[in-house]
Amino acid sequence: MHFTELGIDTRLEKQLAHQGITQPTDIQAHAVPTAIAGHDIFAQSKTGSGKTLAFLLPAVQRVMKQKALSKRDPRVLIVAPTRELATQVYSQLRLLIAGTNISAVKVLGGENFNDQIKALRKDPHFVVGTPGRLADHLSQRSLQLSGLELLIFDEADRILDLGFTDQVKMINELADHRLRQTLLFSATLDHAQVDALSRNLLRSPKQILLSASNEQHSDITQQLYLADHLDHKEALLEHFVKQDNVGQCIIFTATRADTQRLSQLLNDKGFKAQALAGDLTQAKRLEIMDAFSRENFKILITTDVASRGLDLLSVTHVINFDLPKHAEEYVHRIGRTGRAGFKGTAISLVGPKDWPSYKAIKAFLNDELSFFTVDGLVGKFKGLREKKPNTVWKKAEKKVAAKPAKPKRKAAPKKPKAPIQAPIDVDGFAPMRRKKKPEQE
Ligand code: ADP
Ligand code: MG
Repeated sequence: MHFTELGIDTRLEKQLAHQGITQPTDIQAHAVPTAIAGHDIFAQSKTGSGKTLAFLLPAVQRVMKQKALSKRDPRVLIVAPTRELATQVYSQLRLLIAGTNISAVKVLGGENFNDQIKALRKDPHFVVGTPGRLADHLSQRSLQLSGLELLIFDEADRILDLGFTDQVKMINELADHRLRQTLLFSATLDHAQVDALSRNLLRSPKQILLSASNEQHSDITQQLYLADHLDHKEALLEHFVKQDNVGQCIIFTATRADTQRLSQLLNDKGFKAQALAGDLTQAKRLEIMDAFSRENFKILITTDVASRGLDLLSVTHVINFDLPKHAEEYVHRIGRTGRAGFKGTAISLVGPKDWPSYKAIKAFLNDELSFFTVDGLVGKFKGLREKKPNTVWKKAEKKVAAKPAKPKRKAAPKKPKAPIQAPIDVDGFAPMRRKKKPEQE
């Protein structure tokens, strides 16, 4: 199928061909004509499936072909949860509009406010931004939305998770007129919070649900490894990053402090690694992402600030040094690899503190997770039995430390990458030492 069959202008199709993009992906084939027909859209499809173009193409097409409602106000507003993602969407937009008279401005937190005011005064057709800064401009009236025709939320659920509900409401109210069209995109839209908001944002939307949030991604191999403690995690990490098949790699940690610590540790061991966390200056954040996208260094260590949307095709591995608390974030983190048809590997280290997250993710993904081991790095931790997470957890930790687990494993020497069924029972519990109450949750 060609893009022109979806109603896309031949100029745009040529632009895409320059980028090596000739066939629409599934989400594009569904969303582009629906958006061009003027419908609101609520769209969910897997990470790396081409959602950005699915909303950019109809948006650019509209600005190219249809008369503007207002000469002054932006015609299209695209909201993304993080500065890095907004920057990436903006870059992709710039490629599409190169050589046309369509203009676009990027409005991010952490950048000079007055410069943004000046840029907005030039009446750009497109504004791409993060919700907080957009709301600041709306409050100051340096951005006005009464002529807005198309409002797009990328990673809509994350925008809400980050607590930007008020800003979204503000945008919604100020751009609230009959002609506005709204598009919501993510890989994980199917939860209650989004439902409630989308009722206010969308008008008789067409739902395009190409995969469930919790559906397995066929291009991503997922491997879990049990870890006793921090040192054990670090030893495993070092083992993984030095494997030959690792191209670029993104490591996710729970805290900003850990991004720095691990970056130091890996650099000391001779790896080229850099930490990206939300507390860095905006200039530094962009510099790091830019260097990483140019493959100037191999390992990016970050928090969930980079879990959404980022599209770097040379990322072969994602490593969860700690598991995220929310199962959706797991889906997005591992989705930084295995994009656009490439294969990727997602490795997660599961220690005692990760156990509750592991259980949540496992339940969300309908149990489809297997544990693996690395020769020479097999620890004692085999999972926790949970009743009252806090108390039982501590005890279990102590127990493991005080008394090495009995070598209850099977006699055969372990192969490095074979899935093990034994350490964790199908219900997610550690193997029962005493046979008692099989279900406790
Ligand atoms: P998503 O937002 O669904 O996670 P992206 O929009 O970031 O995915 O796209 C993932 C990658 O796929 C990008 O590198 C993009 O350039 C590429 N891509 C998008 N559409 C196509 C297409 N039709 N054919 C080939 N590659 C595509
Ligand atoms: Mg995306």
